[in-house]
Amino acid sequence: MGGAASSGALNNGQEAYDVASIRADFPILTHTVYDKPLVYLDNAATTQKPLCVLDAMRNEYLNANANVHRGVHWLSQQATDLHEAARETVRKFINAKSTSEIVFTRGTTEGLNLVASTFSDEFMKTGDEVIVSTMEHHSNIVPWQLQARKKGIVLKVIPMTDDGKLCLDEYEKLFTDKTKIVSCTHVSNVLGTINPVKDIIRIAHEHGVPVMIDGAQSVPHFPVDVQDLDCDFLAFSGHKMYGPTGVGILYGKEEWLDRLPPYQGGGEMIEHVSFDKTTFEKPPLKFEAGTPDYIATHGLATAIDYVSSIGMAKIFAHEQNLTRYALQQLRTIDGIKIYGHGPVADATSAIDAATAGCGEAVISFNVGNIHHADLGTLLDRLGIAVRTGHHCAQPLMDRLGVLGTVRASFAMYNTKEEIDALVEGIRRVAKMF
Ligand code: PLP
Repeated sequence: MGGAASSGALNNGQEAYDVASIRADFPILTHTVYDKPLVYLDNAATTQKPLCVLDAMRNEYLNANANVHRGVHWLSQQATDLHEAARETVRKFINAKSTSEIVFTRGTTEGLNLVASTFSDEFMKTGDEVIVSTMEHHSNIVPWQLQARKKGIVLKVIPMTDDGKLCLDEYEKLFTDKTKIVSCTHVSNVLGTINPVKDIIRIAHEHGVPVMIDGAQSVPHFPVDVQDLDCDFLAFSGHKMYGPTGVGILYGKEEWLDRLPPYQGGGEMIEHVSFDKTTFEKPPLKFEAGTPDYIATHGLATAIDYVSSIGMAKIFAHEQNLTRYALQQLRTIDGIKIYGHGPVADATSAIDAATAGCGEAVISFNVGNIHHADLGTLLDRLGIAVRTGHHCAQPLMDRLGVLGTVRASFAMYNTKEEIDALVEGIRRVAKMF
């Protein structure tokens, strides 16, 4: 690994955050696009990968590749050790009590589908209710709708204020004796709003209802402690936190995972199979049918070691600085409309940020009458990668009264100079209209 945590310029009187050294670990960031330096601001969609992750995966393929768990031979044991060590790395990273609570999935989407499907199979009947929020990604809406179609469960939605905060008073009123689960995003992938999930969880628990948290946009950006949050389930994706694609994590409290039925059947998840009766492994293997992507789990663990060596609190502080700076600069552009993000607050932790209602690392906007896709396409010509469209959150677009937005999203390797390039780029494009 490059010296990501090595000393560097002091950042606002805080401890060293050496962004140049971090960038040196991500070769793709030195690319040019249409002869312009690449400015990669599409990190909420996926992040770039540091060399250490690529090296770790290549190294495993070269030196320790064999199918895991069922081999007695040396190579299989090497691969199994790496795979299970990755589970322990994840456990420590989110402070789960036990590795039994860490299920490897393909990503956030699979984690959410797994819970929606198995939870409703086991614990919900026609007319029972799930509470979600206005700002969910489709992957925390559609899995529940599939269950609604299958067995008539009902979705209830936490409303949102005009400046992008969930209405907690209204949330409390949604509970009935039919409410069986709450499933809510920690951070909006469109607005960047950090939701007060600790309160959301506490209120649900007061009603005896468990909570699933979509951590796709929180776990990569600030420390998330599942015991402190007291969430019952949490899902996130490796590729949004500098790890490989195709791997993610579902955390579940042991008491819940024990009670849920298997999601898929096949190898790995069984204890004994006969044509009369099959018995299943205990969690987490009960939920891991088939050959896992053990190369990717090792890659994800390497990414976690990498960010941990820098420090999640420092990464959060850096990204908050970038977000504050970007908001200040973007707000000077004529005709810009930024969604969410109330007054910029001086949050030093994610808990403060949620309380203050400020967002992180994601800014969605439109400029005058310029179509978001046109703005994004022309920014691309200037080397600036942003995302445009509905961001897999069409109900939120409806609430905002737009078809889509431009979204700039930051990661630990972004700089103020890149934000300057974005702002300058938007001005240039706006002049063309
Ligand atoms: N939830 C949120 C908030 C997201 O931002 C995303 C991806 O953009 C997802 C879920 C789905 O993640 P994945 O496609 O990695 O499964």
